[in-house]
Amino acid sequence: MAKTSAKDTKDARPRVQRVSDLLRLPTGPVDLGAIDTGATTGVDGSKSEGKKALDLLGPRLADLQERLFAEGKSGGSRRLLLVLQGMDTSGKGGTLRHVVGQVDPQGVTIHSFKAPTREELAHDFLWRIKRELPGPGMIGVFDRSYFEDVVVVRVRNLVEPRTWRRRYATINRFEESLAAGGTTVVKCFLHISKHESRDRLLRRLDKPDKLWKFNPGDVDSRSEWDSLIEAYSDALERCNIDVAPWHVIPADHKWYRNWAIMNILVEQLEALKVEWPPPEFDVAEQRARLLGHS
Ligand code: AMP
Ligand code: MG
Repeated sequence: MAKTSAKDTKDARPRVQRVSDLLRLPTGPVDLGAIDTGATTGVDGSKSEGKKALDLLGPRLADLQERLFAEGKSGGSRRLLLVLQGMDTSGKGGTLRHVVGQVDPQGVTIHSFKAPTREELAHDFLWRIKRELPGPGMIGVFDRSYFEDVVVVRVRNLVEPRTWRRRYATINRFEESLAAGGTTVVKCFLHISKHESRDRLLRRLDKPDKLWKFNPGDVDSRSEWDSLIEAYSDALERCNIDVAPWHVIPADHKWYRNWAIMNILVEQLEALKVEWPPPEFDVAEQRARLLGHS
């Protein structure tokens, strides 16, 4: 039998492991309580290295977004939907600022889903969602989503159990149809500990410029924490399909959360291999026309 040197073993492994794969939730039973919220999986080094890597990736994300946008303007139908879920204070807003904020705002639509209005409640739970989906070439971001309709709705008994239970399959079919229509669905659960969440709320109370973010209701909803985690565990387990898998983002470290989601977006867009659309005119001819008329 041939001997395997340490070098061979090393070379046999993939050189770069995708963050999308590292943080993808495996299929099967899910117990979020057992997943570390403070992990920094995939980062060699500390916070400062993570921040440096994030800065380096920003321009890459911007380039990929512009390609997708250009393709959309040229008749392409592909687009990306980023679904952000997580407890209060888990960092959905910070992700919008630090990650999504790095691309041309003209190519992004962001929608924050709140408790449904009376009009929205008169329709099927996906009605308000379908109105906010990204168009061709766009990156759409949902700050909360239809997953509230199987999580908070369940915990607060807002509909009958048989109604929210039926929704898992409805969501899976919905996401399958999105994928079939050219949407890359990227789902991220921002996983924060109850302790870190309390510290973030306390810090808001300490700073006059953060008080506006403080919602006394968030203190009350801490009593729902365990029930929400249980409902999330079920939702992630039941709606973890191949065309729209879940990623669980350890979110106690803000820099890591940003780094991880940035990497996942870059990887998902790279996988689309979007080329710049070829011109529908003769470049040399247009140049000659411009020069001839100067
Ligand atoms: P925030 O994201 O902090 O502005 O809060 C929005 C609130 O709306 C959260 O408490 C959500 O749980 C709630 N919410 C969002 N979607 C739904 C829904 N479909 N049903 C009930 N509450 C919802
Ligand atoms: Mg809130």
